[in-house]
Amino acid sequence: MSSARVSKEIEKLQEQMVQSLIELIQIPAVGPENGGEGESRKAEKLVEICKRLKFDKIETFEASDDRVQCKKRPNVIVYVKGETDKEKLWIISHLDIVPPGEDSLWTVTKPFQPIVKDGKVYGRGSEDNTQSVVSSIFALKALKNLGIKPKRTVALCFVSDEEMGSKYGIQYLIGKGLFSKNDLIVVPDGGNSNGSFLEIAEKSSLWFRVRTIGKQAHASEPSKGLNANRVGMEYALALDKMLHAKYRGKDNHFEPSESTFEPTKKEKNVDAVNIVPGEDITYFDCRILPKYDVEEVLKRTMGLAKVYEKKTGAKIGIEVVSKNKAPKPTSANAHVVLMLRDAIKNIRGIEAKVGGIGGGTCAAFFRRKGVPAVVWGTFDELAHQPNEYAKIENMVNDAKVFAFLATCSG
Ligand SMILES: [Zn+2]
Repeated sequence: MSSARVSKEIEKLQEQMVQSLIELIQIPAVGPENGGEGESRKAEKLVEICKRLKFDKIETFEASDDRVQCKKRPNVIVYVKGETDKEKLWIISHLDIVPPGEDSLWTVTKPFQPIVKDGKVYGRGSEDNTQSVVSSIFALKALKNLGIKPKRTVALCFVSDEEMGSKYGIQYLIGKGLFSKNDLIVVPDGGNSNGSFLEIAEKSSLWFRVRTIGKQAHASEPSKGLNANRVGMEYALALDKMLHAKYRGKDNHFEPSESTFEPTKKEKNVDAVNIVPGEDITYFDCRILPKYDVEEVLKRTMGLAKVYEKKTGAKIGIEVVSKNKAPKPTSANAHVVLMLRDAIKNIRGIEAKVGGIGGGTCAAFFRRKGVPAVVWGTFDELAHQPNEYAKIENMVNDAKVFAFLATCSG
């Protein structure tokens, strides 16, 4: 088959791709931890789109979750039969999104009112990860239009709950035994702006909550209380400094090359300006190079909390929100990595390099089971930011690579 013919067919589908992307972005799919209703409505729209495109084998696996109104977190799989069924090619992207963040920062458009501007589609979830949802679907649609059968059966997998740990998403599907060791796993949920970066390793991640308890008082008589806000800030800054100093080593395979430790979310405290807060809650997001021990980071964090408790008289509790030890990296010579590099070379004319990142993706859960998995896509890296957009050109060009991958014998 000629890849030029397939690429041309994908280009013809561009308008439909943009339309589908817009339809999907319009439906928020925020997990319950962030006050959302989950992915069900978005999944229904996705199934509708896939039916419209005449994909005939669509399965939905629903994980029960009492925290959302419909009690279900959907995971949709679209299968296209290939010449062989012995090993499948999986392209896995996620339906859920992070919340829009501060509304006033969305200056191009509102988060769920997508618009097309300068070759980009703006809206929350556009790049992360709906761009890949759409590019993978239309890669197969192009093959279908041309009557080309994939080499191996392709399964497009659209999962829930990726942003908050994947328990109701890819972990649920792995638990159902859907994947086999020989399958090729591609996760288009990370990459760089020219598509030359293949991610085969991730850092360990550690998220925790710092709960500081003091004593509430009138702000005009602070000595009658113990200001948890002040202690919480002092501790957080000291912790920030200590972690950066202790774990400052670099590994140039990673992007960024050092561990990161960021104070992020803060929970609301008192309602009035004139109240000394008795409680302060702040969170840290840590991405740790594999050479460091996550447990040791946690121990040091708790140790410093004890020091500040003694110093201030406040109580400082460290509560782990999530903790993931980095799995063994996928080999740079794994079949799926070599095939994808070859596809990128053929379609884009570039030599992609392999490396690691700080962000966690679905790939980690496969690596943990010893199944090679590669993360790749072409992104301007707007994930989780205001004015997030997906470049239409990237969506189309990634679809060409997926189509090539589906048809090469490798
Ligand atoms: Zn993502």
